[in-house]
Amino acid sequence: MCSSLLRAGPALVALRERETDTGACMIRFVTDADDRPVRPGRPDTPETTELRSLRERQPQLADAIDMHIDLLALQRRVQVRIPLPSFDLDAAIMGRHQKEARALLRFEQIPLEPTDLRLVLRQTMEIMRRFDALESADYESIETLDRDAGLVAVVEDWYLAAAERHVVPEHRSRAGSLDAPGQDDGARDQVLTLALRPFLSRCAEILQPRAELAIWSHPHCPLCGGEPDFAVITPAAERHLICGRCTLRWKFDPLTCPYCHNDDRSLISSFATSDGQYRVYACNVCKRYLKAYDGRQSTRPVMPMVDSVATLPLDAAAMQRGYRG
Ligand SMILES: [Zn+2]
Ligand SMILES: [Zn+2]
Repeated sequence: MCSSLLRAGPALVALRERETDTGACMIRFVTDADDRPVRPGRPDTPETTELRSLRERQPQLADAIDMHIDLLALQRRVQVRIPLPSFDLDAAIMGRHQKEARALLRFEQIPLEPTDLRLVLRQTMEIMRRFDALESADYESIETLDRDAGLVAVVEDWYLAAAERHVVPEHRSRAGSLDAPGQDDGARDQVLTLALRPFLSRCAEILQPRAELAIWSHPHCPLCGGEPDFAVITPAAERHLICGRCTLRWKFDPLTCPYCHNDDRSLISSFATSDGQYRVYACNVCKRYLKAYDGRQSTRPVMPMVDSVATLPLDAAAMQRGYRG
């Protein structure tokens, strides 16, 4: 018997593995349905409709799907109240950021409202705990961030640590020397990623349609500096990476590992699901993998929260082969 947190794109889902009679390692989602609140009758978004349909096709993913439906509803409730930010952007500005590998969005430009931040943080933790995706010790540890007067300062450190990590050294600020989140910070990073998504994805709405985005060639997010944790293959066979923090998409070489820059194709394992809808790129240099939605085969656009849940079995398969997300 072993247990693990399985990286599920924008969110994490607690999984337990068990040995079957045949010795094969199966995945079982933890079920704790008794104390779930009744959701008010809101019209479904396309993502929620897709998740409900996925639950019918793959009932073994029901708990992960229900958790993501609740997370999506929470994020949507908060997001509609967040004003669109404004920041200067033209080809010269993007060119300068490209050269320095520096994310565009400064922390103070994020339209963060402390009351909404506190609310979305607390409710994210509640949802994750209800689905056994957050250990009690982690819950209590993260809760202290909310009790402290310095929640915004904690969030700023979290934001800047990733935003500055990839900046070329001579342009790096104080925050660039902050440590990357360690193994022990994994739960805090997951919760903050989910809680900040409504604010950061609002900022991504500004940059996403802009032509200047094409100037960016790095594997980290041009807006917030986050790592990609999903990708989409466009009908033109381009690969666009999707930021795990703000969900911005940007074009990147289709067969270069975004985590270690390995571009030796003999050291990248790429395979598709039997229906052709999803693809996995696994790097044999850094042992990390990235999942992608194949938009050439599909009738709908990529939906990162949906597709990350639909591909949970791929995460399990990749991890069993020694790769990490
Ligand atoms: Zn981002
Ligand atoms: Zn790699």
